[in-house]
Amino acid sequence: MSQNNPTAATIRDKGDLLVIAGAGGFIAGALTRYFADQGFTNIRAVDKKPLYKWYQRVPGVESLCLDLEYRDNCVRAVEGAVEVYNLAADMGGMGFIENFRVECLRSILINTHLLEAAYNAGVDRYFFSSSACAYNIDLQQDPNVRALKETDAYPANAERGYGWEKLVSEIFCQEYWAERKMKTFIARFHNVYGPYGTWDGGREKAPAALSRKVVEAQDSGVMEIDIWGDGDQTRSFMYIDDCVKGIDMITHCDELVATPINLGSSELISINDLVSMIEGIAGVELEREYLLDAPRGVAGRNSDNTFIQEVLGWEPNLPLEEGMTRTYNWIKQQYADRAAGLPTPAAEEK
Ligand code: NAD
Repeated sequence: MSQNNPTAATIRDKGDLLVIAGAGGFIAGALTRYFADQGFTNIRAVDKKPLYKWYQRVPGVESLCLDLEYRDNCVRAVEGAVEVYNLAADMGGMGFIENFRVECLRSILINTHLLEAAYNAGVDRYFFSSSACAYNIDLQQDPNVRALKETDAYPANAERGYGWEKLVSEIFCQEYWAERKMKTFIARFHNVYGPYGTWDGGREKAPAALSRKVVEAQDSGVMEIDIWGDGDQTRSFMYIDDCVKGIDMITHCDELVATPINLGSSELISINDLVSMIEGIAGVELEREYLLDAPRGVAGRNSDNTFIQEVLGWEPNLPLEEGMTRTYNWIKQQYADRAAGLPTPAAEEK
């Protein structure tokens, strides 16, 4: 096990400027809160969304509305930064990434400008949020998957649009280390879920979308649920608290410089079983309708956590049922708040 694991956070200077890109969104919003809770006093959160649309606003954090597709905004964003975390991307669940490939590909502008700006600003550590969608899709055609290990990205045949953007941005990060000695860190996230994530509007992912549908069925009294595909597709889902802890551990482990690593749960579940789990949490049973023409993504995908265990002696481990209970209850509350006319975070429309 590495000696650079989680405690590294405690020996950093709490006054160092941390810049978090995409902080109006789900994961970076949680990361901002995580670092603020750890006592970091100098955090700059950046997103292109207007501030009132951010999922979380953390008190005491400098929050800037900047579009990071543009070079000058990246330069402004990283001024004085010691660490930069890039979680800004135009993305969403399967429905989004299958229908908006150009938008997904254009996120390459964000990482390209942000990396260069970070390098020029003399940043110590740079984190990039990659994705399991960077893996070769030929290895994901069977619901009874072999879990994906880091070497499975090559020979490359990534998910069209979104996956290729991630893979090329990974390469940028690797070369900034190889040629210019800026320390970069790359995590390939497998599906992340939890409170303060997108739960409606078209960008939401399966755990949130299915939770919302179960709430809607109860609200409308129409006890049915539609499922994209045949429901046999399998995935693993990582709870948000594990994700932000993993980002911190990875970014402060020198053995992982410029080395892509899985950050995901290895608890595999089919979409049908996930629906049953949510029904159990909600105490209902719904009639299932399968939309076989809807986007369903690859047949199966799981995270092989051998490498992260080896290097960090840890892996994401909150049981899915516990995380889904928290997530379902949060979405149920959001739904009720919205019905009562209270403000709730909303994703950008697409
Ligand atoms: P999110 O959509 O909630 O957050 C992304 C944020 O980036 C949004 O708030 C968006 O406004 C912002 N953004 C987009 N374009 C921008 C720009 N040009 N300038 C500034 N901000 C911009 O998504 P998330 O789930 O929090 O994902 C964060 C990162 O993790 C992304 O890179 C995503 O690809 C990656 N990822 C997420 C998952 C997941 O399951 N959520 C899985 C794999 C990878």
